[in-house]
Amino acid sequence: MIKAYRHHLIGAISSDALSNSPLGKIVCVGRNYADHAKELNNPIPKQPLLFIKPATAAVAMDQPITIPKGLGACHHELEMAILIGGVLTHASAEQAQAAIAGIGLALDLTLRDVQDDLKRQGQPWERAKAFDGACPLSPFVSAKGIDLQQLSLQLYRNDQLQQSGNTADMLFPVVDLLVEISQSFSLLPGDVVLTGTPAGVGPLLVGDKLSAGLGDILTVETVVE
Ligand code: ZN
Repeated sequence: MIKAYRHHLIGAISSDALSNSPLGKIVCVGRNYADHAKELNNPIPKQPLLFIKPATAAVAMDQPITIPKGLGACHHELEMAILIGGVLTHASAEQAQAAIAGIGLALDLTLRDVQDDLKRQGQPWERAKAFDGACPLSPFVSAKGIDLQQLSLQLYRNDQLQQSGNTADMLFPVVDLLVEISQSFSLLPGDVVLTGTPAGVGPLLVGDKLSAGLGDILTVETVVE
């Protein structure tokens, strides 16, 4: 699964460092937009809240996406995704900037009822966020010449605007996030970083038609199965 999607997702990016790298781990940041932190009654974090989805969570967003059944609400969280093209360990801002190989869109699918239970019990979130298929990804495009902190994000669900935000409103901008993540663990070529979701998260239902956009760079359409 990972190999088949790899070419589909990363094929447009030409990079020596990436040419032999499998799709790696997916590092995610929670509560990186103040309006989303507020809608779930979460405090605004002083440092980024990090968690990881394994590579087995990745699926292609432009294919029909499958949500788990019988586990309560599965929420969409539309996020800008960063494809890493270098090794970042205790990285500087310059190194982080240079390691951005591509940008794309991701859905951080979240079993919200399961997550609420886990939060109440003080347990990690993997059962809610790391299941197979929990990270639909768009194909990545080059980030060259693009201001990553001036991009609109939109998610339409059945033609209704559900999520709308702008990367200008991130609490921790992309380069700062990569620097911060690399203080705790290394990022490798083929890893993906999800940069947080703006407000408007909500449940997906089988049969939903989704259309997601990142500035005028990417539009992805999909259906929920
Ligand atoms: Zn998220």
